[in-house]
Amino acid sequence: MKQNILIIGSSNTDMVIKAEKLPRPGETVLGGTFFMNPGGKGANQAVSAARLGGEVTFICKTGNDIFGQQSKQLFEKEGIDTSYLFIDSENPSGVALITVDAKAENCIVVASGANAKLLPDDISTALEAIEKADIIVMQLEIPIETVKYVAEVARKLNKKVILNPAPAQSLDSELLQLIHLITPNENEAEMISGIKINDDDSLFTCARAICDMGVQSVIITLGAKGAFIYNNDFQECVSSYQVDAVDTTAAGDVFNAALAVAISEGLDLPEAAVFANKAAAISVTRLGAQSSAPYRNEVDIFV
Ligand code: ADP
Repeated sequence: MKQNILIIGSSNTDMVIKAEKLPRPGETVLGGTFFMNPGGKGANQAVSAARLGGEVTFICKTGNDIFGQQSKQLFEKEGIDTSYLFIDSENPSGVALITVDAKAENCIVVASGANAKLLPDDISTALEAIEKADIIVMQLEIPIETVKYVAEVARKLNKKVILNPAPAQSLDSELLQLIHLITPNENEAEMISGIKINDDDSLFTCARAICDMGVQSVIITLGAKGAFIYNNDFQECVSSYQVDAVDTTAAGDVFNAALAVAISEGLDLPEAAVFANKAAAISVTRLGAQSSAPYRNEVDIFV
């Protein structure tokens, strides 16, 4: 039996202009090309998990505007349950303004908008979603008080919580004690543990330090090298797959989504990490965030 996955996080619209060069303050650069992509770590993970065959419910908050409406339609098209998508009548949907130059250097400004208003009060009206869930996945693009509130409710209801601690910030052990599995990349792991990863020894020490703060299991993602698992049962590196990477945007989001789907199907952590490495490796061979997220059949035949 497949378990239910509840993802709680951000939804943004990325507005990207590709231009010859980035503007200096006060400068106008003409001649760019524009495109719009759905983004936000929560939405990326929800879409990716649904494509990989997960039973996904997504809780987020958008503005009462065209971007929010488009996001909702998109989630529904992907087969995601949006019964608990909140609409903020006062704040706009989250938007990221991105400029990319000819050398692929970028410059990004994010207006979190409604994402910053997804509060414990909202979640308290969606307790049914937490009750129905087996696995809850969160990131850090919504208020930390909301993440803590969900983790506390989940603990009382005996639900598994996966925290992808991105973007990087330091976290207290009060929160970490409520988390079953945390999945930082190397920067985020350093931010949490205070230990810089520069070799195998520091990787091990860093993962152990995070576990000692109260989390049951840690998976540190290592980019092209794969992922390192640390808990009482496993301490091992699961290698990634060699691919021609063209865009690593959302690699971490696809990895986390795949991990949740694999766990929801009963796989243990090393098996789940193999599946997640495959899905993320496929995603880095494609451009974009949600547009790069692979479908289940693609991962199943990937070698
Ligand atoms: P983030 O994108 O959050 O910074 P990482 O860079 O650690 O996280 O990447 C997450 C996962 O994506 C890795 O664990 C790996 O599975 C996959 N990945 C990232 N970069 C590559 C790459 N160049 N080749 C293959 N897989 C990759």
